[in-house]
Amino acid sequence: MSRLVKKEILVTPKGTRDLFSDELFIRKKIHEKCREIAEYYGFQEIQTPHFEHSEIFEASLGAASDIVEKQMYTFRTRGGDQLTLRPEGTVPIVRAYFEDGMLSWPQPVMLYYVGSFFRHESPQKGRFREFGQFGLEILGEDLAVAEATIIRIFSLILKELGLEAALELNTIGDKECRPAYRKDLIAYYRKHVNYLCKDCKRRLKENPLRLLDCKEESCVELKKNAPQMIEYVCDNCKAHFKEVLDFMDAAEIPYSLNPYLVRGLDYYTRTVFEFVIPPKTPEEKRMEIGGGGRYDYLGDLLAGKPLAAVGGAFGVDRLSELLKEKDGFAEGKRPKVFLIQLGEVAKKKSLCLIEEFRKAKIPLAQSLSKDSLRGQLRLASKLEVDFSLILGQKEAMDGTIIIREMDSGVQEIIPFPKVIDRIKTKAKN
Ligand SMILES: [Zn+2]
Ligand SMILES: [Zn+2]
Repeated sequence: MSRLVKKEILVTPKGTRDLFSDELFIRKKIHEKCREIAEYYGFQEIQTPHFEHSEIFEASLGAASDIVEKQMYTFRTRGGDQLTLRPEGTVPIVRAYFEDGMLSWPQPVMLYYVGSFFRHESPQKGRFREFGQFGLEILGEDLAVAEATIIRIFSLILKELGLEAALELNTIGDKECRPAYRKDLIAYYRKHVNYLCKDCKRRLKENPLRLLDCKEESCVELKKNAPQMIEYVCDNCKAHFKEVLDFMDAAEIPYSLNPYLVRGLDYYTRTVFEFVIPPKTPEEKRMEIGGGGRYDYLGDLLAGKPLAAVGGAFGVDRLSELLKEKDGFAEGKRPKVFLIQLGEVAKKKSLCLIEEFRKAKIPLAQSLSKDSLRGQLRLASKLEVDFSLILGQKEAMDGTIIIREMDSGVQEIIPFPKVIDRIKTKAKN
């Protein structure tokens, strides 16, 4: 006897969803574009496991970061291991760099990844608990050209997807110059501690830079007069940042400087960047669709070895949300031709015809399980195809087929073997 699953259980868990139809089609388009450009620029794909030892995230993202404190899906396995569903892509890749011997490859090592990541966050538009990311990492490169390459590729992807986003840049210094800034930042916020939100009061002790990232209104207000890192950067950091900006100018990538851009992770040094959709109305929030930065200390943190590196990632769910709003983006996949068959002989001939179309790479829709002309025509017009092919009893015997233009209703009868050529010509006009 079968036991029915309770209705409440027969749904995806909060913050997750099934992907199919247009949603999945758009996603595949995004992935294709990302892969195409990244591979052209010499990045190779890497796939790491969906879970890792929890410690590598705890050690690198910052014990007090929102991710580690509230958002990681951590579990103990039957064997007693403490594992975490990957909340981001960079840490596993740095782990892989050392584990898989990439240190002995020609440097820099340029990798890209596409996949699912997991964070326990409150779901909102374009944000899910299982979310998609496309990311790039350049490992073993301390020159500003690494930042430039990654930013350049991201802006190319956006452009070719037809999206417009603003690029914001900042430098958050290194271990030479950041301590002095950190000190002044703490002093500033101490003076106003009563206005800080609960989380920021705690962050003030552990990572004051993260206060600049807080979205609470009172904290956003306080930020306006906070000291700015750019006034503290040492000569080396300044020269590096200037070089990044020179590359932006040379590649004609427009940007603006955001002196309070920090990003919510501990491992960043020097350059940080974000691509944002600016709000259209004062009530709307700015929407971050991707970002990244340099992380020269992460290798040291994880493996005790120095590793200069830069990385960044796009949120695929947000890109897909934006593309869904664009007219016609999901249309490319719709077949332009529908095959209608009537009678046993025609049905049998249809199988060969479908295969001919597949070989000719012409998408062809059909419903071989349907028998009536009306039913199939209705389906053809529902799919908004340009042409229907009608293969009736008579045509099947004669070795002909009818091509019907759906808009005008004009029909022509042509020899069966000519149908593909004829469709190709007609589709061009
Ligand atoms: Zn706050
Ligand atoms: Zn510095």
